[in-house]
Amino acid sequence: MPVSPSKSLMGLSLVELTELALESGQPAYRGQQLFDAVYRQRMEALDRVSTLPLEFRARLAEHGWGIGIPSVDRKFTSSDGTVRYLIELGDGETVETVWMPEGDGGESGDGSEAGEESTQYPVASTQNLETNAEACGSLPWRRATICVSSQVGCAVNCKFCFTALLGVKRNLEAGEIVGQIAAVLRDQGVDPPRQRVNIVFMGMGEPFLNYDNFMKAVRLLGEGVGIPESRMTVSTAGIVPRIYDFGREGLRPKLAISLNASNDAQRTEVMPLNRKWNLGELMKAAREFPLRPRERLTFEYVLLAGVNDAPEQAREVVELVRGLRAKVNLIALNPGSELPYRTPQAERVLAFQRILVGAGIPTFVRRPRGRDIFAACGQLKRTVEIAPASP
Ligand code: SAH
Repeated sequence: MPVSPSKSLMGLSLVELTELALESGQPAYRGQQLFDAVYRQRMEALDRVSTLPLEFRARLAEHGWGIGIPSVDRKFTSSDGTVRYLIELGDGETVETVWMPEGDGGESGDGSEAGEESTQYPVASTQNLETNAEACGSLPWRRATICVSSQVGCAVNCKFCFTALLGVKRNLEAGEIVGQIAAVLRDQGVDPPRQRVNIVFMGMGEPFLNYDNFMKAVRLLGEGVGIPESRMTVSTAGIVPRIYDFGREGLRPKLAISLNASNDAQRTEVMPLNRKWNLGELMKAAREFPLRPRERLTFEYVLLAGVNDAPEQAREVVELVRGLRAKVNLIALNPGSELPYRTPQAERVLAFQRILVGAGIPTFVRRPRGRDIFAACGQLKRTVEIAPASP
């Protein structure tokens, strides 16, 4: 028997697990049992899966198979309850995953965020929250969001993002994406669908540059772990051809687009990928995106002091978004010494929001989560120290 498993069952679909069972001389239903053990129960080790015959477990182990939940290398807990996990992958690389016990300030994907996070737009009913509080019994949170990474590092090179400083090392496998969630759910002792968990694909990396693995992970999370697609949101920096592909998926998460500037010159400055797919092409894809009934697109807009936070620029955003069924999430820059930008004053952020809201665009200001542990939007770059004070 190998010392440690080299092949991971996590990441295989029901069809693939069934093939594996058949190849091992087992009946097909063993595939479903494996699927349940890996995704629904998230067992730590194959030899604990007592529904499977001993000889099958032994044979899988001999062939180098293990469940494949990645291990938590380190974790950091913020004063606001957010937890940042450094997750170690099989080849020694690490990625980051963030647990946010009360949602993430606008991307929970279920519409229940508005009342809680917005400074000015308290429109949500409390019904969802109350129902869920009951379902969660005595747990201290009513809903939680996991922010998951899709690549080791990122290739997109946005000028305000810490992850960009790492460059890109590689894509994550579907099993490594699901594995982050499995590791966090285990650590938190949380079991969906009994407890409500939202997923945002907004950690390290650009999900639409790892499209097939990202979509496979979505399906495994839906069918296996029990987190419905409607509680997932993916954010893209604007990989336009993949936005069209994504619109054609039968089951899919909600879509968020990182806008981050109000005109081409400025967007190219802060997001060089705008040279490849400019605002015209991006907004065309957004307009043609087939929304479901009551679904809205989300545009994220990182506010950089003195760069893209002027009232004039808010009016340009209004023109861009006009006529779309969309909301805007404003994110005041999460700062860092390596970045050439500053965080705008709160008053500036509110003035920007007022212009959008005044034009009828639902606009929320995202509360920064876990800045003191470098867990907030754009801060994921494997920082191992803790910030001296939250800015
Ligand atoms: N690559 C995807 C997923 C990352 S999501 C994307 O770009 O959409 C991360 C979100 O955080 C994006 O909307 C991004 O624009 C935003 N972000 C990046 N750096 C940030 C920073 N320093 N402060 C605040 N938000 C930031």
